[in-house]
Amino acid sequence: MSKKVAIIPGSFDPITNGHLDIIERSSKIFDEIIVAILVNPDKKYLFTLEERVEMIEKSISTLSNVKVDSFCGLLVNYAKKVNSNIIVRGLRAVSDFEYEMQLTSMNKSLDSNIETFYMMTNTKYSFISSSVVKGVSGFGADLTKFVPKIVSEKLEEKLKEEQNE
Ligand code: ADP
Repeated sequence: MSKKVAIIPGSFDPITNGHLDIIERSSKIFDEIIVAILVNPDKKYLFTLEERVEMIEKSISTLSNVKVDSFCGLLVNYAKKVNSNIIVRGLRAVSDFEYEMQLTSMNKSLDSNIETFYMMTNTKYSFISSSVVKGVSGFGADLTKFVPKIVSEKLEEKLKEEQNE
């Protein structure tokens, strides 16, 4: 049987414990996981692609069947390139559902071979998103409950850089 390669796409700006939980759990279900960072030239990110790759690589170092990559353009084209037809996404709340449903239907109509699997968030991470974490950083709160240590350090560095600009 061929290897089941699943793609977990996202911005990961930055990776959080919620993302990591989905990555860890899916790495037990599929043979190989590719965490694929979407590079959208029209979107402004806090972290560069290199920084996002580094933070993910350090956070997944104990997971031997997970790797990081990046892609531009259509996810379905990227999936073909890496010989995968499996997408895994996380769902936090009903509010995620409508957008995710549109995304899944769009991908399915672009490529009928693509299957998207949804994994419910671990309830302890249900309120965590990259943007909420960015919003609370810089005020001295301990962020290690929400993000891997490398990310909380990078967030602190980034905020210092911004304050000095
Ligand atoms: P996007 O810009 O595509 O929403 P994100 O990096 O924000 O990218 O998220 C990537 C995926 O991870 C999405 O499927 C999102 O729903 C999921 N996700 C984000 N935060 C959590 C969390 N706390 N628990 C479970 N899934 C999450």
